[in-house]
Amino acid sequence: MRTEEPLPVRLEDYRPPEWLVDTVTLNVSLDPSATRVQSLLYLKPNPEAEAPAPLTLEGDGLHLVSVRLNGALLQAGEFVATPERLTIPQPPNAPFRLEIETIVNPSANTQLMGLYRSNETYCTQCEAEGFRRITYFPDRPDVMATYTTRIEADKTEAPILLANGNLTESGDVPGGQRHYAVWHDPFPKPSYLFALVGGDLACVEDIFVTRSGRKVTLRIYVEHGREDRCGYAMDALKRSMQWDEQVFGCEYDLDIFMIVAVSAFNMGAMENKGLNIFNDKYVLADAETATDEDFARIEAIIAHEYFHNWTGNRITCRDWFQLCLKEGLTVYRDQEFSADMRSRAVERIGDVRNLRAHQFVEDAGPLAHPVRPEVYQEINNFYTTTIYEKGAEVIRMLRVLLGREAFRKGMDLYFERHDGEAATIEQFVRCFADASGRDLSQFMRWYSQAGTPDVVADGSYDSTAKTYTLKLSQSLGPTPGQPIKLPMVIPLRLGLVGADGTDLPLVVAGRPASDVIILDEPSHTIVYEGVVERPALSINREFSAPVKLTANVTAEDLRRLAAYDTDPFNRWQAVQTLATRLLLKNVGLLRAGQAAVTDDGLIAALAAILSDTRLEPAFVALVLGMPTEADIAREVGRDVDPDANFAARAHLRAAIGGALAPALASIYERLTSTAPYSPDAASAGRRALRNTALDLMAATGNPDAIARAAAQYRGADNMTDRMAALATLSLHDGPERAEALQDFNRRYEKDPLIIDKWLGLQAMIPEAGTLDRVKALMAHPAFSMNNPNRVRALIGSFAHGNATQFNRADGAGYDFVAEAVLALDATNPQVAARLATAFRSWRALESSRRKKAEEALRRIAGVSTLSADVSDIANRALTPA
Ligand SMILES: [Zn+2]
Repeated sequence: MRTEEPLPVRLEDYRPPEWLVDTVTLNVSLDPSATRVQSLLYLKPNPEAEAPAPLTLEGDGLHLVSVRLNGALLQAGEFVATPERLTIPQPPNAPFRLEIETIVNPSANTQLMGLYRSNETYCTQCEAEGFRRITYFPDRPDVMATYTTRIEADKTEAPILLANGNLTESGDVPGGQRHYAVWHDPFPKPSYLFALVGGDLACVEDIFVTRSGRKVTLRIYVEHGREDRCGYAMDALKRSMQWDEQVFGCEYDLDIFMIVAVSAFNMGAMENKGLNIFNDKYVLADAETATDEDFARIEAIIAHEYFHNWTGNRITCRDWFQLCLKEGLTVYRDQEFSADMRSRAVERIGDVRNLRAHQFVEDAGPLAHPVRPEVYQEINNFYTTTIYEKGAEVIRMLRVLLGREAFRKGMDLYFERHDGEAATIEQFVRCFADASGRDLSQFMRWYSQAGTPDVVADGSYDSTAKTYTLKLSQSLGPTPGQPIKLPMVIPLRLGLVGADGTDLPLVVAGRPASDVIILDEPSHTIVYEGVVERPALSINREFSAPVKLTANVTAEDLRRLAAYDTDPFNRWQAVQTLATRLLLKNVGLLRAGQAAVTDDGLIAALAAILSDTRLEPAFVALVLGMPTEADIAREVGRDVDPDANFAARAHLRAAIGGALAPALASIYERLTSTAPYSPDAASAGRRALRNTALDLMAATGNPDAIARAAAQYRGADNMTDRMAALATLSLHDGPERAEALQDFNRRYEKDPLIIDKWLGLQAMIPEAGTLDRVKALMAHPAFSMNNPNRVRALIGSFAHGNATQFNRADGAGYDFVAEAVLALDATNPQVAARLATAFRSWRALESSRRKKAEEALRRIAGVSTLSADVSDIANRALTPA
């Protein structure tokens, strides 16, 4: 545990570093329990900093062996070393050389930050503050240096030795069993991008030729025997490299690009320069072991980490408050890549569903924070959906505001102006202002004001004057530390849809008007002229702004949009809105002890979409996927009863499955294919629709549909169909479910990544017996509290993905998760803190559950040995609103 209480870090306190580092030369001698790290730094006073100061280098749990300044061994009194800090009170006021030797124990490193072992492989994770767990260093992103890394290890234990950059030398260490490799990275980088790997790994190799004709060696390193599951990741990497050249003009810059897949990893993947380290879950895939969603996820994450080479590595962040500078921008880039590789409409709907399910929820609770926070207690807790996904939405709005061409000019200017620098959000946005001539000062509020804006659209048609008057207004509620908000700049793309489904011309004051309205005041009214018929308003097309929209659109208008809207996003949204209205009504009826009702108009809209064979199957599958329990909870907003939400949704699914049974059955038959499995988007879309149809047919409890699911499970030749059938069966307690669950375990028990799917599925069963099942599964041979993937699959799925059982009325779900948080905190505070965020919506619950959730949170917060990570989450969650 920490020996000091960490102080909050504030953006306003930023000062340039007093000392800069020109070069870092590391000599790392790997050993399971005593790895020796010799670090040679060339330091110089920063001309931009205030007067020369003591040199203070950060550490974390370090054991110092020696320190030399310009070659002379420093004596006691000339420096102060604690595990957390190395201070030299009177350094020379001129460039000097500092040599530091430390010893670290990778095998004892269960936090998985710094140098640790994943199974037998040595690997590192340095973002955000892990480098200080390897050696003392000015561990902040605005200290950029070039690195040369020599790694030495036992030849049999670690035949493969990797670090950032290009390999310059390797060979045997005379007189023994050890060998070494030297890597040099010519690009200055912050310490968080440092990486090294040592282990006995297999390698898959390929080549990419850049647009200027340079040959780049591509290598993916995995455990032996996993080589044949790397093909898709390699293909995704090559497509990413090509796409970044074509769309953003960004070319790769080293001779080699490496990816290493490890099984114990806190995050998804890490973009270390030239040496990405990945959670193996996001590399390994084939038809037998991965679902279509896994393939899509792998493609997106491979692209994301690769794209960081320019947005994050070549241009990095000045400080951690600027995290969205690299993350929001890179998420935007990977979303655009996926949209180009797959279906733009389907990707957009998926991204927005994800944003609403996670970011909107974060924004509505005690953990809400701006896209650029102004204070943090523990930076590890700010790798959030607000920084990533809302950060990406802010970039997307810039493109809507400026148009594609000016946006690209702004990006080009950013690369040209700031290459090799540690930049800020202000510098980034300044590039777009300069490239477009636009004033973006008010737009900056998207970075500083937390919360999801509410937009109200009120349209009225005057059949005599042939005008359509649209009144728009915006508001933004208080969030922690921000009671009062100013108006945002909200770009709203819209259309007026006529009875036959075509868009009516937009004319304002006698001139053709843009289809993007910019709402930048509290309210705004716009009058469209020459509107020949009463239109249906289609607003926030493509989800052009990340807002909560309320519009006075009738059910009839929504059915028109569902049938005809030229914007597929709003076509999907129209069905969602119809379904949400019904679900909210039924939640009220059910809680009042009355029976739920159905909506024939909604069923008719769904039937029309099902019968429209011109639509992409993946899109139809999304339309049929009704709002989730989390969506309903978010719409209910307060006094939430998860059981009522679940019952309303189950009722709707059964109503659809019953009313549309013949159409669903015919879709299921029509899309049955005997072609060999291919993970491409079109094939995946057909499987998604077929499996959605199966699930809805079974939602009525129809024994034929359940038998069909059991048959699909047994006969499947790919993981997508097998998992989908298992997921359907998991919702229906009976012999088919028990048999399939047993079979899955037998089939894949030796493959923990696949067993994760099985653990997660069982943890999400909405039944009273699930908590006991989860507790029992913790004794499964594949489960380990030390592997983040296992913890997330079993306990994380229960806490984040099972609304009725985590929120059990007796509070046992909260107690279980609180205990798991405390148990994990002793070994891996980051993963423990992430799990604790499951409590973030506790205040929105009905009073009895709210009280029990609060008790569990207070129990966590009351533990005196809590890590900074968990303490930060628990205390923020409990801070009065
Ligand atoms: Zn990233």
